[in-house]
Amino acid sequence: MDLLFHRDVVVANLASGSRGNCTYVGSPTQGVLIDCGLSTKQVLQRLDQIGLGKVRINGVMITHEHTDHVASARILSDRLRKRQGKPVPFHMTRGTASNLNPRCAPADVVPIAAGISFTLGALKIDPFRLPHDVADPVGYLISLHDVNVGVITDLGRTTRLVEQQLSRCDVAVLEFNHDEQMLMDGPYPWALKQRVRSAHGHLSNDESEALVAASATPRLKHLILAHLSEENNRPELALAAAARGLHRAGLRRVEVCVASQRQPMGPVEVRAPTEPSKPPRRARPPARPHTQPPAPRPREAQLPLFSRYS
Ligand SMILES: [Zn+2]
Ligand SMILES: [Zn+2]
Repeated sequence: MDLLFHRDVVVANLASGSRGNCTYVGSPTQGVLIDCGLSTKQVLQRLDQIGLGKVRINGVMITHEHTDHVASARILSDRLRKRQGKPVPFHMTRGTASNLNPRCAPADVVPIAAGISFTLGALKIDPFRLPHDVADPVGYLISLHDVNVGVITDLGRTTRLVEQQLSRCDVAVLEFNHDEQMLMDGPYPWALKQRVRSAHGHLSNDESEALVAASATPRLKHLILAHLSEENNRPELALAAAARGLHRAGLRRVEVCVASQRQPMGPVEVRAPTEPSKPPRRARPPARPHTQPPAPRPREAQLPLFSRYS
């Protein structure tokens, strides 16, 4: 059981929407945050609320410089360093770093580039370009024990690359930002409506439905609807669009939930494939009873998940 526990992959959205975004991806004991757009107090409180209060945060991945994704970076960076006794790296593109509000800048920035994947301990992290109205935004595909988790929000349209990344996901945190009609009938000024609808704004329910229909594969187990607009969308409309998309993709067994601005989502846990990367074993001759020492525990279960920062 111990081994299985260590191979669970945990995904928990702490908040999602224009007032703050933050998602945890990792094991039950350590992992990374994607974005930190809500206060440090809220990040830590919400982790605690869903039973992840003791997880070690080994890095923070920033998608872009909008405040709802980066607001607490400086203070969170200080707090994590004190809590964990070491600086915690904040990964972001150079474009994001140079356009960050200096009041948000964290202590330890590690530059990354779209299209260049890297590892952080056992995590493989693949940042990829998104179309959004900032300097150099990225989404992330994070792999642990052969389980792929995609965080794909803040994009005005889909691209071939986004479709490819979604097709690889076991768990997808995917933007369902607005209902087109609600946006057009709603209170936003005209210029803001045009910005949201543009190719560098946000995905509508219909656009995300089409993306799911075109790209989700039987690999997908959990679909988390994210970055819903509080003024221009309703959870039931986003859920209906997601259901249509999954139906069109021929997928019947995907668990769908809506990430909320106000409260953290209970963690999604995915059991990793039992032997992800080892070649198939050859059949062993039957063991002679009482003469063999007990088999050693697989080493993987004893290795720390993160070596560089833990
Ligand atoms: Zn945003
Ligand atoms: Zn944004």
